[in-house]
Amino acid sequence: MLIGISGFLMGFLGIELVGALIHRYLMHGPLWWIHQTHHKPKGGWELNDWFAVLFGSVGIGLLLSGFLGYVPLFWGYVGIGISVYGGVYIVLHDVLVHSRWGSMPKPLSRYLLALRRAHRMHHKHTMAQPGESYGLLIFHPRYFRQAKPDPVSK
Ligand SMILES: [Zn+2]
Ligand SMILES: [Zn+2]
Repeated sequence: MLIGISGFLMGFLGIELVGALIHRYLMHGPLWWIHQTHHKPKGGWELNDWFAVLFGSVGIGLLLSGFLGYVPLFWGYVGIGISVYGGVYIVLHDVLVHSRWGSMPKPLSRYLLALRRAHRMHHKHTMAQPGESYGLLIFHPRYFRQAKPDPVSK
């Protein structure tokens, strides 16, 4: 039970932190030529989507290796954490922020409004540098202050 929870949390939180570092230093560095397809989208699939395939493969690979006994079971739970994160990422990043396959209703939660604000500010930058807000779920508290809900009547 404990290895399940700790493995899951390590995978889920670890991929947010490692992902933010990869985003900051590789995707906005030497791999910008791939990642810029997400900052200057033309609609449809982006070359940048291969990163999702890569991260997804790491998650599924760890999950299978752990539960089939090739590596300690702990790593199988890490794989579950990464895979669940991937699902959450698709819903929040691709659907909530970018409306890639149809839009979602405007979120009522202050946290989701701030998350959306933080990532939209990341996209204000169309060059590799400078930038801000490289993680998705964890962001600077200032985005809470900036993300006021829209007035109900306009
Ligand atoms: Zn970026
Ligand atoms: Zn984005």
